[in-house]
Amino acid sequence: MTGSLAIAGLGPGDAALVTPEVSAALAEATDVLGYAPYVARVPAREGLRLHPSDNRMELQRAGEALKLAAEGRNVVIVSSGDPGVFAMAAAVFEALEASPVKDVTIRVLPGVTAMLAAAARAGAPLGHDFCAINLSDNLKPREVIEKRLRLAAEADFSIALYNPRSVSRPDGLGRALEVLREAGCGERIVIFAHAVTTPKERIETVLLRDARAEMADMATLVIIGNSATRRVGRWVYAPRRAS
Ligand code: SAH
Repeated sequence: MTGSLAIAGLGPGDAALVTPEVSAALAEATDVLGYAPYVARVPAREGLRLHPSDNRMELQRAGEALKLAAEGRNVVIVSSGDPGVFAMAAAVFEALEASPVKDVTIRVLPGVTAMLAAAARAGAPLGHDFCAINLSDNLKPREVIEKRLRLAAEADFSIALYNPRSVSRPDGLGRALEVLREAGCGERIVIFAHAVTTPKERIETVLLRDARAEMADMATLVIIGNSATRRVGRWVYAPRRAS
């Protein structure tokens, strides 16, 4: 019996944004692994084993998922949003590289990533060229983050910031905003999109010069507009032509 491993994105929170493909994979799963709050979003049923784990256990979780799949189980490993965006898919391939088990059937099932859900709430702030930067310094040095922010500002990208804040890095976003102010972005529009598509959703739009790190928490996606990003009524959008 051959097993399989699906690496699935659960979307930003609302059950209506889980794709039919992901729902089908979950319906056929024998085992679901993931960070505990994401596994909690998967409905329990008979015959389904849930394996919640801690946030920082990605590689171990990925290795365990490969092992279970090699044993013949139908495994789904879940991420929020899209599994390829700062999430489990890369960890699984990293574990695969290091693993003696190579012949597992793997599928990556996309999901709606936070920046797209956040952008849709605000209007079209990612309507022109943009980039996404993970502010977590767990796996990369701060100098790399700051360099990328400076160059993204220089290239006039709109910028989506994932993981803007955490308890262990309370000052990361403050420093990022400082770097962007030094790069001349003070007049840019900034969107703080908190817990998008959940009952706790809150969207706040300010100018970068007035933005403060406390406006974000772990469940916030921050979008910094480009130099042409503007408002029309309650909406924010990036014009399609480069300025
Ligand atoms: N794979 C996920 C991202 C994981 S990193 C995705 O594609 O969305 C975790 C970060 O994603 C959070 O710190 C936050 O910046 C963002 N995020 C995830 N869900 C969110 C939501 N519902 N609303 C706003 N931001 C969210």
